Amino acid sequence: MAEKTFIVRIKRQQRPDEVVHWEEYELRYRPHLNIITCLRDIAEKPFTRDGRESTPVSYDANCLEEVCGACAMLINGYPRKACSALVDHFEKPIRLEPLTKFPLVRDLVVDRTHMFDSLKRTKCWIPIDGTYALGEGPRVSPEVQEIAYPLSRCITCGNCLEICPKVNEHTQFVGAAVISQVRLFNMHPTGAMHAAGRLEALMGPGGIEDCDNAQNCVKVCPKGIPLTESIAKVNGQVLVHAVKSWF
Ligand code: SF4
Repeated sequence: MAEKTFIVRIKRQQRPDEVVHWEEYELRYRPHLNIITCLRDIAEKPFTRDGRESTPVSYDANCLEEVCGACAMLINGYPRKACSALVDHFEKPIRLEPLTKFPLVRDLVVDRTHMFDSLKRTKCWIPIDGTYALGEGPRVSPEVQEIAYPLSRCITCGNCLEICPKVNEHTQFVGAAVISQVRLFNMHPTGAMHAAGRLEALMGPGGIEDCDNAQNCVKVCPKGIPLTESIAKVNGQVLVHAVKSWF
């Protein structure tokens, strides 16, 4: 019996300034195959469908269980995590492309520094001084924990930035993930001491005013984070902070 196969088309560029070309690979089907395994199959035998020898495809991956966020890419035009994207669920041929809202490094690898810089700009952390014992931290109520835990599941994959029309070369918009992290750190009893700095960072160019309420972000988040709710909450905090700072 003939072996069952399927086709994967991949957008390839060795360097950002190189002309794009597409390669097609015919891969052996196995049940429950994910996209990362397809890329590994290609790395083992980098021969295109028409028998031409190529090179293994570059891609980022780490945890392989939707925790690290590294393997985000466009799969059939939609931002997805390659580790949790199963071949069975996609129309064939399967098309793989790098995310478009971040600078290309090579093939499917992009540079997501913009997102990490935005987290730095908005001070999305809780400062602690590790030089001496501080004693117990403040208690976090179960009610706050219940809201905070889903927000803490962000894996900085960048899917929400990829799908957002306001993240483009004409804006510096930080995107939904960063706004949601501001909400998370502002609701922590210790983090709240630095809430003003985070809100002020969101009041400038690229801040919360750049959100046009497209609401695409919440549909592509692999962790189901209530991003539009976070944007609404933080928008309210920014308004209150702005009014208070007038007096
Ligand atoms: Fe990815 Fe969701 Fe975090 Fe956006 S909010 S970076 S889609 S996990």
